[in-house]
Amino acid sequence: MTDTTPLLAMRGIRKSFAGNEVLHGVDFTVGPREIHALVGPNGAGKSTLINVLGGLYTDYQGEILLRGEPVRLSNPQESLAVGVSVIHQEFSLVPDFDAAENLALGHEPRRQAGLIDHRAIQVDGRALLDSLGLSIPLGVPARRLSVAHQQLTEIAKALSRDASILVMDEPTSNLDPRARRRLIELLATFDHTKILATHDLDMALDLCERTIVMCDGAIAADGPTLEVFGDDALLDSAGLERPLSMRACPVC
Ligand code: ADP
Ligand code: MG
Repeated sequence: MTDTTPLLAMRGIRKSFAGNEVLHGVDFTVGPREIHALVGPNGAGKSTLINVLGGLYTDYQGEILLRGEPVRLSNPQESLAVGVSVIHQEFSLVPDFDAAENLALGHEPRRQAGLIDHRAIQVDGRALLDSLGLSIPLGVPARRLSVAHQQLTEIAKALSRDASILVMDEPTSNLDPRARRRLIELLATFDHTKILATHDLDMALDLCERTIVMCDGAIAADGPTLEVFGDDALLDSAGLERPLSMRACPVC
């Protein structure tokens, strides 16, 4: 990998459902520590593209390169193994496990006799959450946590698995304003590469230096967020409203 090799490159990605092509050869690259917004109207193909990255499909066409090396992501374990962690809109927590048990899933600490060390799970879980400044209650099954706490557990899980690329699908869509603000602040604190598919253009403006606009399964624009959002014709053609902070004040 040279200095100019992108961390992630997707080239000519195509995906069909029952013969109906919904991604028509998508190309984009992401550099280390960059934060990209992926925006576009409903049905544009954002979630499908993210699902390709998350290894949910075996039948996509095109090439994915990580640090210049071609990879085939045909199941979520393969994505995780190359450092891509995807948090889908539907969380993947085990509903009856608490946050610490979910964090330990698949690599539970064991006692000498091989039995799972439940105390260590709680101690390790608390330590991880504390290190990230997350006050998620333990001892509460995930299904009874707030959406915000479930999402933060997913993020903690991704970070604990050494993901270098964190991908989130509509991360703010089910959060109240306070939890949304907290999430934006949290995402700004760690310097992983992030790709955020979102309808929340204000979050994109706050957090993302680059924005990719998808329309009808293809990339309509890819550039610095301020430039993309400053292009009224582009936003109109993609059916996107300007972020609140970029709209003219109706009074002045
Ligand atoms: P977005 O996330 O941008 O709203 P999606 O990726 O969810 O868009 O959808 C892109 C297109 O693919 C839409 O036409 C949608 O109906 C179709 N699609 C997505 N998932 C499936 C699926 N599992 N089966 C069939 N069609 C799907
Ligand atoms: Mg979607």
